[in-house]
Amino acid sequence: MSKHFVPEDLPTRIQHYIGGQFVDSVGGETFEVLDPVTNQTYATAASGQKADIDAAVAAATEAFENGPWPRMKPRQRANILNKIADAVVAQEDRLAELETFDTGLPITQARGQAQRAAENFRFFADLIVAQHDNAFKVPGSQVNYVNRKPIGVAGLITPWNTPFMLESWKLAPSIASGCTVVLKPAEFTPLSASLWATIFKEAGLPDGVFNMVNGLGESAGDALVKHPDVPLISFTGESSTGQTIYRNCAEGLKGMSMELGGKSPAIVFADADFDAAIDSTLFGVFSLNGERCTAGSRILVERSIYSKFCEAYAARAKTIKVGDPHDPETQVGALVHPEHYDKVMSYVELGKSEGRVLAGGGRPENLPEGQENGSYVAPTVFADVAPDARIFQEEIFGPVVAITPFDTDEEALALANNTKYGLAAYVWTTNLKRAHNFAQDVEAGMVWLNSHNVRDLRSPFGGVKASGLGNEGGYRSIDFYTDQQAVHITLGDVHTPKFGG
Ligand code: NAD
Repeated sequence: MSKHFVPEDLPTRIQHYIGGQFVDSVGGETFEVLDPVTNQTYATAASGQKADIDAAVAAATEAFENGPWPRMKPRQRANILNKIADAVVAQEDRLAELETFDTGLPITQARGQAQRAAENFRFFADLIVAQHDNAFKVPGSQVNYVNRKPIGVAGLITPWNTPFMLESWKLAPSIASGCTVVLKPAEFTPLSASLWATIFKEAGLPDGVFNMVNGLGESAGDALVKHPDVPLISFTGESSTGQTIYRNCAEGLKGMSMELGGKSPAIVFADADFDAAIDSTLFGVFSLNGERCTAGSRILVERSIYSKFCEAYAARAKTIKVGDPHDPETQVGALVHPEHYDKVMSYVELGKSEGRVLAGGGRPENLPEGQENGSYVAPTVFADVAPDARIFQEEIFGPVVAITPFDTDEEALALANNTKYGLAAYVWTTNLKRAHNFAQDVEAGMVWLNSHNVRDLRSPFGGVKASGLGNEGGYRSIDFYTDQQAVHITLGDVHTPKFGG
């Protein structure tokens, strides 16, 4: 493995994409993009301001009002979506390389994300062709039917973890629905988003349907949320950012979907398949560098197996291969950015006073040559963490896990629900009744019983409490990006009560 892999033809200048053209910011503003294994700048990206958002929204509005896309038959749109999926698959290696270079995600895991991005397009292509809305006769000679209309210009704001895949999760249903879009990718990881522009163009998506403005949240993101011609915002990111966007959307009474942070519990009962629970709870928090919204970052373990579990878990965590993200053997790569690294490391330090360190607790040893300054954190396991500890309550979003014992089912449930978040929960038990009862009572938008993160695209995706508002997935996504207008027709005589005259 070379000491520092750099993808061929690595772009060093990242632009916006507006109305079918790559462009710089109107005022020439830029920001620097870092390579997470060295923390050196590798590119400058156009930094979008209000003027750039205005230009992108104008292009999207023109394409929506006068272009062919919202007027095409679902089958025609589906054909283009399928071509996009084919192109994503054809570029999987390139995509994975760029994504790994930009995010520090292990290459094997980045490849999986590219496959999922393609699936998202195929899935929504099928869905819009299969979709039919109700038309029903009302007794008394009335017929009602539903007219489904794309809402208009959708504002899509995405985070830096698995950026390409999460962009696909919004792009596929919004354009499938006939909307035109302005995407604001995360500023830490703008590299792979430019590939959408070329993929879309080659697949035949008309210019102006997809527009992208890079830049910071407080400038480009804020201008997009506040733009009067953008009637809905789909946002994925931190809960605190979600609150700001929620307030700003209220001003324009905009539609909103919010996928926010999490601190999801994995509950391991004494009767669980022990080895499967160990495998899954390790994967659940250390895959994707722990930078995963659904990470099972609090593990609650029944006291009778607590010591055995902690010992086995820590022994395995110590063997996780940390290092160069481009090495196919690597399981945990570099965190995305030094700012995020500092945040994760501050929790690692705090955790030393809030729990017992079983593994990790700092930087890993033996980093690859040339990557000694990279944003690396050793997989870190804290045991005996009390429920009021900050590392139990707050989202760390890195390779750090807190383990806590419990004695009874009631206590396990209380601990699971003892957080402001409610994204996911994982339950490990061979007792079917207990598993289903737990699912009924746990405050989480998604529950996995004896399984982990495998999800059919038809099921809802979303959180409760501070983890989100609204659900995406399947027809819910199409519902979000379309207005459903009810049309009522009287077939017989009209008997309107007479007013006046
Ligand atoms: P973030 O909230 O800092 O940023 C997300 C996006 O919002 C970025 O593009 C950013 O530029 C933009 N933004 C920031 N301030 C803004 C503002 N005032 N107005 C408009 N846009 C603004 O989140 P992040 O650090 O990029 O991502 C990590 C977070 O995302 C974690 O909390 C994670 O749990 C969450 N996440 C949730 C899901 C989910 O589906 N629930 C999925 C992935 C990530």
